[in-house]
Amino acid sequence: MNIQEYHAKALLAQYGVTVSKGVAVQSENEFDQALSQFPDDDIIVVKSQILAGGRGKGVFKNGFQGGVKLTRSKREAKRVAEKMLGNTLVTPQTGPAGRKVRTLYFTHAENIAHEYYLAILMDREAAKPVIIASSEGGVDIEEVATNSPEKITKVHVDPTRGLQPYQARQIAFGLGFSGSAFAGMLKSLEGLYQVFWDKDASLVEINPLVLTREGTVVALDAKIGFDDNALFRHPEIAALRDLNEEDEKEVEASKHNLSYISLDGNIACLVNGAGLAMSTMDIIKYFGGEPANFLDVGGGADTEQVTAAFKIILSDPKVKGILVNIFGGIMKCDTIARGIIAAARSVEITVPLVVRLEGTHVELGQELLARSGLSLVSADSLADAAEKIVNLVREDSS
Ligand code: GDP
Ligand code: MG
Repeated sequence: MNIQEYHAKALLAQYGVTVSKGVAVQSENEFDQALSQFPDDDIIVVKSQILAGGRGKGVFKNGFQGGVKLTRSKREAKRVAEKMLGNTLVTPQTGPAGRKVRTLYFTHAENIAHEYYLAILMDREAAKPVIIASSEGGVDIEEVATNSPEKITKVHVDPTRGLQPYQARQIAFGLGFSGSAFAGMLKSLEGLYQVFWDKDASLVEINPLVLTREGTVVALDAKIGFDDNALFRHPEIAALRDLNEEDEKEVEASKHNLSYISLDGNIACLVNGAGLAMSTMDIIKYFGGEPANFLDVGGGADTEQVTAAFKIILSDPKVKGILVNIFGGIMKCDTIARGIIAAARSVEITVPLVVRLEGTHVELGQELLARSGLSLVSADSLADAAEKIVNLVREDSS
C-alpha cells in the first residue's frame, strides 16, 4: 500500500526529518484559508496528490502543464490550484488514463542548492534493507543507474543492528556533505531508516532530498510504500489508504476477504487455494489464453463470498470467459455451485463458463448446476477445463 505525499511527509516529520511547511486541501473553498497560513511574499508550490511519480512533468487532460508548480503569489497559486483540482493528470507512471487529482498540497518553496536521491528498500537477495543514495537527485534515477552507475551509493543495513552511525556518515560523506548540512543529513538518514523499520515499509523514496541555500536538508518529495501483510500491526497507517486510487474490483474483493488481483487478460478464473490459482493461470497461458485475474476464494469461503467473487469477475468488461476450478477439500463443491447459481440470478452471465469441480460433495455440486438450467460447460480435469475455455473464448472473438 502506498500513501499520498502529504501523509508521507507528516509521518517523516514525526521522525525528525525536515519537510517544508504544507497544507492539504480537497475542495476549492478551502484554498483561501489554506493559503492564508503562508506569509504574503512566500513562494508556494502547488502539488497534485496522486499515487504516481513524474507529476512535475505531467500534463492535465484539460491541457494544463505540470502537476507540481512553483507560484510567485497567492493569487497565482489559487489560479494554478483551480486548474489542477478535480482534473486528470497524466504522467509517465499513470498510463494514458491518468489519475484524477482529488487533493492538492500547498507547500512553502525551498531555495534549492542541490537535489539528491535517497531510497531505502528491502534487498531480497541480500535479505537486508539497502539504502540507495545519489548526488544526482530530482531526475529519473533509472537513467542515472544506466548512464552513470558510479554516482549511486548502496549501503546495506544489518536488520538486527539497525543503521549504524558510521554508515550514515559514509553516505553523507559520499554525497559530499560537510559542516552543519552534514549533521542535518545524518539526522534525516536516521529518521528515514527508523520510519522504514518501525512501520514495516517496503519502500521509502525521497526524490529529491535537497540541500537548501540556507544549509538545511529537506525532503521535498516523499513516496512511502508499506508491506500489506504487516498493515494489521499499523492501524494508523492502514487508515491512510486511498481507496480512490485502487482498483475498484480489488477494493470490493478485500471487503469480502477474497484474494483478488486484476490482470490484463480476458479469461477470468475463480479458484480455491493460491497454489491452485497460480497453476490455473499457468495452464490458461499454456493453452494460449491470458488470465484476467488471480482469484483465490480461500478454503472456507461461503456462498455469499462466492457470489461476491462472481459479481466482481462479471463487472470486468474485459472478461470474455470464466473458468471455475475448484478442488473441494475444506471447500465443498456444492457451496461453489450455490454461489454460481446465486450470482447468475442477480447478474446475467453472458460469457462462456467452464466449471471443473473435484473433491468434497462433487456429485451434489454437479447436480445443483445441472438442475439450475445455467448454460455452462463441465470439464473433468484442469487441462481439459483450460483448453475448453481458451477455445470457447477464441471461437467467440473470431
Ligand atoms: P514528482 O515530479 O512527482 O517527482 O514531484 P516532486 O515533488 O519531486 O516535484 C517535482 C520537482 O519540482 C522537484 O524535483 C523540484 O525540482 C521541484 N520542486 C518541488 N518542490 C520545490 C520547492 O520547494 N522549491 C523548488 N525550487 N523546487 C521544487
Ligand atoms: Mg519527485
